[in-house]
Amino acid sequence: MDESGGGFGEQGKFEIDFDLQCLYYDGTLIDLDATEFRVFRVLYEASPAYLSITKILERAWEAGDSPRFVEPSSVHQSIAKLRRILAAHSRSISIASKRHRGYRLAWSGKDSDRDRFIVQKSLRESSRGTPPPGPLAHLELSETHVVGFDLSGARLWSYRFPSPLRRGILDRDEWRVQLVDFHDSGNPGALVTAKFSDARKPDSIIFLKPTGEVAWMLDASSDLIDRDGGAFPRAWAFRHVIPYRTSQGMMVWAALANDAGWSGCVLRIDSLGNAMTHFANGGFVEWLCPGTINTTECLVICGENNAFDLPFAAIFGVDDAPCSSPPGGRPRYRYRNGPAGFPRKYILFPKTEIIDVLARPYGHANRMDQSEDNLIVQVESADLGAHFRYHFTPSLEPKYVFPSGNYEFAHRELEQTHRLDHCLADCPELARPLPLRIWTPHEGWHDGAIRWRDNPWREAGE
Ligand SMILES: [Zn+2]
Repeated sequence: MDESGGGFGEQGKFEIDFDLQCLYYDGTLIDLDATEFRVFRVLYEASPAYLSITKILERAWEAGDSPRFVEPSSVHQSIAKLRRILAAHSRSISIASKRHRGYRLAWSGKDSDRDRFIVQKSLRESSRGTPPPGPLAHLELSETHVVGFDLSGARLWSYRFPSPLRRGILDRDEWRVQLVDFHDSGNPGALVTAKFSDARKPDSIIFLKPTGEVAWMLDASSDLIDRDGGAFPRAWAFRHVIPYRTSQGMMVWAALANDAGWSGCVLRIDSLGNAMTHFANGGFVEWLCPGTINTTECLVICGENNAFDLPFAAIFGVDDAPCSSPPGGRPRYRYRNGPAGFPRKYILFPKTEIIDVLARPYGHANRMDQSEDNLIVQVESADLGAHFRYHFTPSLEPKYVFPSGNYEFAHRELEQTHRLDHCLADCPELARPLPLRIWTPHEGWHDGAIRWRDNPWREAGE
């Protein structure tokens, strides 16, 4: 959280300027020749990994002005000089070496602490004839870096992740990289929710300042304790992350699931990266979106509830006291230390026909879509991505439900294999509204229903 390197007793910091090929300490230029700078740059870019002499040579010159042959001895000389320079300024950063591995940039503390000691200098301070860059306006994510740009497309900075991100998630999860302006300054920072390809590393939210330096990092975790007092396995994963304003300012809200078990929750994270459990659910929380009850700003969440073995959606005020999923169902799926409050409404979706025929425990409520006056909770209703789309008002009042296009195919396939004894037109499930179980603090659990949209068989008067 502290950018100054506090506990290390040092105030200064190295800055590396790729554009001007310069290294600074505490604002003062360090005298390096071109070879020394390039060697330092590749060690910085690869850090904290080791690079062999061969790799250093390759990388230092592959993107250089013109490829030329360089003796390995010049790398050794450069490293000797760089070591003297680093040692003269800082006890916390050095170039380490290991037989058969090569060299690496090393610093005190964790791998992710690098930016306490050395950061990439923003182009803003370079003294060229170009106009100064504007605020951060666009982010691009690769498996190894996030790069910040201003509105004109000028590159402001790049940040290298402590470990490569998992392939495949970057296109699928657009919410993993977003601009967040905690203080309404017009100068947002970058919020990146990383899932690493090394599955032993926990998911991590990284908040980068407008200048591209790490402001804070937060690993996926929760202080929730199981009913029997046991800690949950360290297998927490971020399912969805959104910024949303409260009366105390902008917060980041994160939906979590524990992939080694059943538990899930919502974290509320402030501008300094301090997190608290705001909603403890008896199952995974998969998605978040803004809602309102009258004029109260709320958050709507969806996922699964293992106490009832059903998908759910719920709504609570962003300034409400922390809360837990309502009582009932199998007591196994409670927490010892779940917050005492309750949500404003909690809805269980039914176990629908095909899910039952397929002998699946429940369909997942794994995302929501939102339009001006609709919240649409998507609940799996068959294999092959078929789902029911439950439409609600922004205060989570049921409106209507309809099946996705491929539901019809899933139904027909089961007719043909005689696992269903009727065609879709005669489906008893579509003949009447779907039942909901609804919980509110005033009424407790009670029955509700949601009608089908565009259904010729729907009940008269609807
Ligand atoms: Zn049917």
